[in-house]
Amino acid sequence: VTRILILILFILWLAWDPSQSMAAAPFWLAMPLFLGGYLLLVVSTGIWGRLTARRVAAWNFHQTLRRFNITMDVARIAIPAWFGVGLYLLGWRAIVASMMSEPLMNSVLGVIVGTLPPLAAWMGLWWSQYPTERALREQSLLGMIDANLPLHAPPSFGRYFMSNLRLQILFLGIPLLLIVLGHDIGVLLGRTLNLQEEGSNVMEVASWLISAIGVFVFAPEILRRVLHTEPLRDSPLRQRLDALCQRTRIRYRDILLWKTDNNMGNAAVMGFVPRLRYILLSDLLLERMPDEEIEAVFAHELGHIVHRHMIWYVVFVVVLALINAGPGSWLAAHLTRWFGTHAQEPVLAAMMIAKFLLLFGFVSRKFERQADVYAARTMQSRQPPNTAATCPSILAEVSAAGDVTHANMPPAPALSVATVSEQVSPSFVGPYGATLLASALRRVAIVNNIPIAARSWCHGSIATRMQYVQGLSHDPELTSRFDYFMRWLYAGIIGALLLSVTAFAMIPQSDPAQSSGDHPQAIQAVPSMSAN
Ligand SMILES: [Zn+2]
Repeated sequence: VTRILILILFILWLAWDPSQSMAAAPFWLAMPLFLGGYLLLVVSTGIWGRLTARRVAAWNFHQTLRRFNITMDVARIAIPAWFGVGLYLLGWRAIVASMMSEPLMNSVLGVIVGTLPPLAAWMGLWWSQYPTERALREQSLLGMIDANLPLHAPPSFGRYFMSNLRLQILFLGIPLLLIVLGHDIGVLLGRTLNLQEEGSNVMEVASWLISAIGVFVFAPEILRRVLHTEPLRDSPLRQRLDALCQRTRIRYRDILLWKTDNNMGNAAVMGFVPRLRYILLSDLLLERMPDEEIEAVFAHELGHIVHRHMIWYVVFVVVLALINAGPGSWLAAHLTRWFGTHAQEPVLAAMMIAKFLLLFGFVSRKFERQADVYAARTMQSRQPPNTAATCPSILAEVSAAGDVTHANMPPAPALSVATVSEQVSPSFVGPYGATLLASALRRVAIVNNIPIAARSWCHGSIATRMQYVQGLSHDPELTSRFDYFMRWLYAGIIGALLLSVTAFAMIPQSDPAQSSGDHPQAIQAVPSMSAN
């Protein structure tokens, strides 16, 4: 979710229509007000964080900490919100434009300067958060000594800052700036070769597209360096993972060890094409989880590859963009009629963001669930002949967690052995796979110090995910019912794509420059629409 907030900053800057700004404050007041707002946010949360960290020994520290963390979430949301205020009311774009020429505004340079204040504030919040993070880490050291786990000193502020910079800002910012750079080069090339006719958008759109596709394809090579990784060394675990990929016929460039200073237990997959595809496993995950569970987490990542989730995400984003360009611009014209020119942009932006968060949240939770189901059924097919004898530790441990989850579960339908064997699909979630995945998920939560019930926008809570796969294991039929549901979801996305293409083609485009936002022609488009 943090990355979505940062993405919103870049999108707000690039898509902002300058004619929509309402410079309510005079120039000399606007800039100090805009920057001062961010400074106030960072300083006040910073002081609060330091006061909170001092109370680490207090009996109600966790309550105090929870209040502080909620405030920090609000502060993070406030950053793009204040950026919107800066653009809309304080004329931040005009301030930047006074420092450089207008054509440079959407170039790499303009994007960097334009988004610098909110990004600096974002980094400032790490300074605010650091003392409590450190206090918490120091406190958990005691528990780790008790549990006989390897100890790591809490990271210094410099390391903490750098790892956040890599993960939150550079991870998204570098590919994004490369896309903008590619676009800049394309437009420049078009101009020098005189390919671009007056008022034609072809070069503009083509250079965005080519540049975006190029960066998407090569992103893994960039990101493996941004994230601080190295190839996972040869070991029994590595051989086991390689063997799993061979069995499932999944090709990739490499499996990478993701160095997070033992801060994060996480796994990820990136890359559209096998030659540029990497699967990442973080240091903390490898250190704190048994091999069977690492394999289950790894299989979850393979699930994302098998079901081509990355391509579906792209299709999904294209659908959303088409809806914005087609029905969205139609709606924009009506909003102008009802609310006047100035209210249209914020209302539309708010609606776009809400729609994006709702739909994206829904789809990504289903994709995560599908990857879970894939992992559980893959692990199921790996069940050793005599499970109880080979890995009693896993099953014993999970049954403790399982008892809790089973309590809220509807009773499994009674099936005779005969019907089960008839209904069994070639691959399904059985008790062994479900239990192994559930125990791996639970340990991911423990390793990362997050409550099992904590909700995540893109993943759902760990508890829900554990409950779901264990629910499936009661009856093989449930797995095929889930597959059936997912097929309908994909059909729905394709349907939405066809519908939005049709809607885009049918709604008369009052101005081709509408979609490119800040094109000078767009300025005239708005009044002419409201006159109709
Ligand atoms: Zn996942």
